[in-house]
Amino acid sequence: MKNALKSKVVVITGASSGIGEAMAKVYAAMGAKVVLGARSEDKLKALADKITSDGGEAAYCATDVTVAEDCKRLIETAVETFGGIDVLICNAGISMRAIFDDVELSVLHRLMDVNFWGTVYCAKYALPYLQASKGSLVGISSVAGLHGLPGRTGYSASKYAMTGLLETIRVENIKKGLHVMVACPGFTASNVRFSALVADGSQQGSTPREEGKMMTPEQVAHIVARGIAKRKRLCLMEAEGRATHFVKKFAPAFLDKMFYWVMSKEPDSPFK
Ligand code: NDP
Repeated sequence: MKNALKSKVVVITGASSGIGEAMAKVYAAMGAKVVLGARSEDKLKALADKITSDGGEAAYCATDVTVAEDCKRLIETAVETFGGIDVLICNAGISMRAIFDDVELSVLHRLMDVNFWGTVYCAKYALPYLQASKGSLVGISSVAGLHGLPGRTGYSASKYAMTGLLETIRVENIKKGLHVMVACPGFTASNVRFSALVADGSQQGSTPREEGKMMTPEQVAHIVARGIAKRKRLCLMEAEGRATHFVKKFAPAFLDKMFYWVMSKEPDSPFK
């Protein structure tokens, strides 16, 4: 397959950990000029230094995606360092675990602030550059953005909102050659379940699932790269995502029961 990322300027939010970090490493190794955003500046610096010492090109900008001005600076860093933007990957995200009965409203606001508004801000500031390059705007959604995932109301809602935003940007730009893709990983080994917010807004601090049995962030990075190369609209990853997408069309009530059953089996599930 053609290496669509060679010499391209790729901005990645949430690049300090998990899927974002893997995308940064994999895409830099493919010859992309990567621009890294996240709050953990020390981690971004270490990652950019490693990429550079391995012969790649990287820049970084400490970014809290809930702050519009930070997102503007991230985009400006890319433009000032590398002269434009070819791909923006809105990947920064957090999760949660609590049923709607129990969850504090502040948790739902936080999920929307990071996952949805973080995407809005970065997409807004990057759009003119992506239009100029006829590049790719990518959102890292989730299988939870394809069907409501119990115990994750704010998470599913934020990913559905991201999809609505990106789909509409795609339609508005139909004559401008902009590629817009929603990517939906299934469970992937990362820090996301450890940092997930529980009902009172504190971090879960542990994972209720077997991380070793999940996709790796590197696998997700390669699948997303293929999706960008093929200019896909929707990037599904594995059996979970494909099955969810397919079954939802024909048997959504059955899918409700499957999602309930699977998630109720988690240790300490907030519903049984
Ligand atoms: P990680 O927790 O490992 O990484 C999350 C990243 O998001 C970190 O780099 C973190 O950096 C960043 N982040 C969190 N909050 C903010 C913020 N306010 N501003 C800027 N960056 C922020 O999780 P994953 O790699 O798994 O998650 C990446 C994406 O993949 C998320 O959108 C997630 O929803 C999605 N996803 C993950 C799945 C999984 O099972 N792992 C499945 C499906 C989708 P820092 O703390 O330094 O700011």
